[in-house]
Amino acid sequence: MTLNPSTLRCTTCTTPLLKKTYSGTLGNMSALTCHACKASFPIKNGVPHFLETRAPERAQLETVDGACMVAGYRRPNPLMHALRRVVSSEYFPGKSWRAAKTRTLENPGTKLILGSGVTRYLDAVHLDLDDFPGVDIVGDAHVLPFVDDVFSGLVCEVVLEHVADPKRVIAESFRVLQPGGLAFFIVPFLFPFHGHPSDFQRWSREGLAREFEAFEDVEVGIHGGPCSSMVNLLSEWGYVMSGLRFPRGYTLIKGGLTGLLFPIKFMDLLVNRFPEAHRLASTLFIIATKPQT
Ligand SMILES: [Zn+2]
Repeated sequence: MTLNPSTLRCTTCTTPLLKKTYSGTLGNMSALTCHACKASFPIKNGVPHFLETRAPERAQLETVDGACMVAGYRRPNPLMHALRRVVSSEYFPGKSWRAAKTRTLENPGTKLILGSGVTRYLDAVHLDLDDFPGVDIVGDAHVLPFVDDVFSGLVCEVVLEHVADPKRVIAESFRVLQPGGLAFFIVPFLFPFHGHPSDFQRWSREGLAREFEAFEDVEVGIHGGPCSSMVNLLSEWGYVMSGLRFPRGYTLIKGGLTGLLFPIKFMDLLVNRFPEAHRLASTLFIIATKPQT
């Protein structure tokens, strides 16, 4: 837990919730109450909750797709996880996205992980829609509960397609970053619909760069390549053509076809270096810096 409570602000009226000099922890508090607007945010097991249980964002977790995602986070199956690392369309051989992510995570200071799921990083505050194991703060990426200029880095991996208003989430990311802070995002381009918990958007290389116009030193590149896309799209096509329904039919058809097709993805080791590979990229990364002034 690297959450500094004095960086929290009210999501209703934006007033800081604690004095800048506050150096305690939230462990023995039951709620944070805004002294300006009297809004109250419960603290459960030391985790502040800035989203009500019945908030629309949380309700998405109760859809069939959302419930599958939550089950995976609450009861992870290490064997299935290890199997899926190989027998899947996911293969990310590039060095540039890895270097960009490392640069963001190793920038000295506290980092914010938006939509962290169950991934954990050092010197980082992990924010998600629900208190999955290891989540430091429950909140909405559209209305971040932090004062301005707090974080030296921000990592947001395959989350932006699931938010209703990506522009607002990027603007909030910009706001909470310190000048000189780094933002690292991964977004899908050619990727099937996946409601974890909802799915609203895709980005091309140009579209993604445009979203980060307020930043400087913007670099966009391939994360998942064209062969990864083909495994994912062909197996998904088979599932759609079967006429079966999610989740049982999906596991059967999509899983079976992925089992046949997955070796194709390893060609991305070579293909990702081709000059036009981005035209069929599965996922793209972007790294961008918040300007000093
Ligand atoms: Zn308030």
